[in-house]
Amino acid sequence: MSEIAASTIASDISTVERILDRALQGEDISTADALLLLIQTSPDLIEQIRLTADKLRHQQVGDTVTYVINRNINFTNICEQHCSFCAFRRDAGTEGAFWLSTEQILAKAADAVSLSATEICMQGGLHPGAKIGGRSLTYYVELVSAIKTTFPQLHLHAFSPQEVEFIARQDGLSYADVIMALQRAGVGSMPGTAAEVLDDTVRRVICPEKISSATWIEIISTAHRLGLPTTSTLLAGHIETPSQQIAHLEQLKQIQQYAIESEYPTRITEFIILPFVGESAPAPLRSRVGRDQPILADNLLLTAVARIFLGNYIPNHQPSWVKLGLEGAKTALTWGCNDLGGTLMEEHITMMAGAKGGTCLSVAQLQGAIGDLDRDYRQRSTLYELL
Ligand code: SF4
Repeated sequence: MSEIAASTIASDISTVERILDRALQGEDISTADALLLLIQTSPDLIEQIRLTADKLRHQQVGDTVTYVINRNINFTNICEQHCSFCAFRRDAGTEGAFWLSTEQILAKAADAVSLSATEICMQGGLHPGAKIGGRSLTYYVELVSAIKTTFPQLHLHAFSPQEVEFIARQDGLSYADVIMALQRAGVGSMPGTAAEVLDDTVRRVICPEKISSATWIEIISTAHRLGLPTTSTLLAGHIETPSQQIAHLEQLKQIQQYAIESEYPTRITEFIILPFVGESAPAPLRSRVGRDQPILADNLLLTAVARIFLGNYIPNHQPSWVKLGLEGAKTALTWGCNDLGGTLMEEHITMMAGAKGGTCLSVAQLQGAIGDLDRDYRQRSTLYELL
């Protein structure tokens, strides 16, 4: 359905109410229905959409809000690519470029363990020089092995589909070869970042050198087939349209349906909206988008529609407190989210883009935010087991 056609129907309040009723009965809603919800502007209808998302969150995962004690480690910002939203990347040898040694990474992991972390989330730039014996995979495997040998209790949530493609391309390997080697070394799950918006017309503008939508989907599905769980994300609030946002959600739903029908051992564990922060992003995209910080109201409506559209397939929805701030993320817990993410301890990618949410939250801060909503909280593992 075109957006023009959808906005014609938008005046029909009963149509929106019927969609919300069906969703509350546990039925799937169509992409046209989801788009209709997403373009609503009436405060009354938006409140009904919020309430529906909140009820579905209650039905699908209950009232307890979960969090994970984790540490983010961005091991290098040296990157061969030039995404138009990225303020993090540097060329090797230029000011601000860094590449952590294994010793530095182990020191950060030790610090995380001392703070009761159960997870290390590790991602970095695509550094062509990150090789051992001329092989990228050997570098990545040895890095993972060093962490897992020293701290076997830590779950490693590491290396996006883009990083998997980079390693495979550098070494002339298949995606499956890379994933299996990382798994054997100790990677426990794959971040579903680099998805940005799964629409190649958008990708040609915001990340022209990145893997295509089809390749992102192929690598995520390969991970599921091989028993490696993944997460999923959407970079929202830049040049993409509401139709492209919904099409993105539809692709995530199809990936999950495929994993279920194929009886793959693992699937997508959570969905995270990453609102675009443009304050320090390269100027062309920043001026095209025309603002530096996310619009909370847009993000909350998208959060609710994502719960209504995806909740039957991906039950765990998490806001990004780094990008929205803790108050914004707390609000998102009343728009369909059930998880507040992790302590992170440090974060460079969004901080360098100009985000205001900070880079570290204590367990007490996470618990306090959840408690303010009169909801129970529980620490979870990366894979959503309650601890
Ligand atoms: S977003 Fe990632 S791949 Fe793109 S330029 Fe930044 S570090 Fe490189």
